[in-house]
Amino acid sequence: MIIDGKAIAAKRLEELRLKVEGLRIKPKLVAILVGEDPASVMYVNMKKKRAEEVGIVSEIVELPSKVSVTKATQLINRLNADQVVTGILVQLPFPKDSPVFGHEREILDAIDPVKDVDSLTSVNMGLLALGQPRYYPATVKAVLVVLEEALNMGDLKLNKNHAVVYDLFGKSRTVLGGFRAVVVGRSEIVGKPAVMALINLGATVTVGNSRTTDLAEIAREADILISATGVAHLVKADMVKKGAIVIDVGIDRQSTGLPDYRTTDKNRVGGGRSTVDRVVGDVDFESVYKVAGAISPVPGGVGPLTVSSLLENVVLAGRRD
Ligand code: NAD
Repeated sequence: MIIDGKAIAAKRLEELRLKVEGLRIKPKLVAILVGEDPASVMYVNMKKKRAEEVGIVSEIVELPSKVSVTKATQLINRLNADQVVTGILVQLPFPKDSPVFGHEREILDAIDPVKDVDSLTSVNMGLLALGQPRYYPATVKAVLVVLEEALNMGDLKLNKNHAVVYDLFGKSRTVLGGFRAVVVGRSEIVGKPAVMALINLGATVTVGNSRTTDLAEIAREADILISATGVAHLVKADMVKKGAIVIDVGIDRQSTGLPDYRTTDKNRVGGGRSTVDRVVGDVDFESVYKVAGAISPVPGGVGPLTVSSLLENVVLAGRRD
């Protein structure tokens, strides 16, 4: 089974649009963009576009690459105090030549945890680690939605604290008890919080990283295999147990070797490339999908669900009751 993240995201965005339509005060998302990295510009614009499509007010604050840590945190403090702003996100990564590069933790932690809709502040990561998530990081929530779809059971529920609880079978949260999950990648944005979410759901979790020596052997034990490395086609068919759920978070670019006539103008976003790139994932889809029980493709899997999950968090953050 191929999990169509694009279609699920479209459905969830439509549900969100109807929800926002019924709100007297519309939520507002402010995205902070440092510098002009083409990929970051594209991601931030896409989030803004989708936000506006569902009725969320959205603004991008562009900071020059040379912005200081003090200036960036002052901006966040102003947004924290602004009652109209529901959610704040800081687009990462920062440009390597920027004074804010290397100060990501300090800057993220300036965000009021209630407005931290990407759920990357230390407070919100701590709550997730404690099994009491306020919000899930958008990518992790996307992974859980894919997982839920793959298991094809249960429903998304909200608890009294507005935390999203994935109560997959409508009963308890130990719904992955007995499942063996392997997460490849241990970053703060994806790998680690995904591990915490899976542990909270009762799965038995193993985490791989770039220095893991026997990754294939470990991966083959997974009922649920999640890869978030950025290494194109790292996961091959011989690393996957038959019938496993394979969730590909990676976004990797590969050159097709074909000349790109569209990008001769170097000033264009994505310009300056001499060949056409295509987006691929960490998983060698062609071979793995024959072995896996369910698989999320790249593109069209976790990616679109990350955006819908972020916007769901914005609406959750805007609830005043
Ligand atoms: P990162 O570079 O911070 O972390 C990569 C992790 O992968 C590290 O823990 C590293 O140890 C591990 N790794 C690297 N090479 C490995 C190897 N050969 N074997 C095993 N582990 C290896 O990256 P990140 O921010 O966690 O992102 C990971 C991928 O997910 C990237 O491709 C990124 O673009 C993508 N991503 C996608 C979304 C989405 O919405 N779909 C969101 C965030 C990140």
